Amino acid sequence: MSGGALQFRPDVKFVRASEITPELLAGEGIRGLILDLDNTLTRWEESKAAPFAPQWVKSLRDAGIRMVILSNGLRDKQDTVSRALELPLVRALLPKPFAAGFVKALEVLELPREEVAMVGDIVMTDIWGANRLGIRTMLVDPLSPRDFPGTKLWRALEVIFRLRRPSGRKRSR
Ligand SMILES: [Mg+2]
Repeated sequence: MSGGALQFRPDVKFVRASEITPELLAGEGIRGLILDLDNTLTRWEESKAAPFAPQWVKSLRDAGIRMVILSNGLRDKQDTVSRALELPLVRALLPKPFAAGFVKALEVLELPREEVAMVGDIVMTDIWGANRLGIRTMLVDPLSPRDFPGTKLWRALEVIFRLRRPSGRKRSR
């Protein structure tokens, strides 16, 4: 597969974000995470963090992992969850997969992109956007089957082109 097509595949895949442990990140040389919100940290239809999220975020924070939320979702929900989890939030003029939000997130983390991974549930926004910038990518299954209507197109592309399969590539760091 060409490098171009690999931009639409995650490096690794998990069922949910809580499988991403401090030990796993240390082994990969990752010191910071950019976190998607809807269906990664919360169910789409709920405005509160998923039950696993507070303890997971705390375990990473205690291990020195820096985190920031980058979401295309609703502002009120972003504010509520970022406060509840005590995580910084970045907003950009253009949504993922455009680069602006990822660039801002890297600035908040104050880490080189080689030491950062994106965690999200949608290939065409979270994964493609981060891959294009050389940020490592971790795909998770969506927490809820519900989503924004516009996401249906992304889901169809994921199925047709089998984009949710991890590429298994190891990046230099
Ligand atoms: Mg999402």
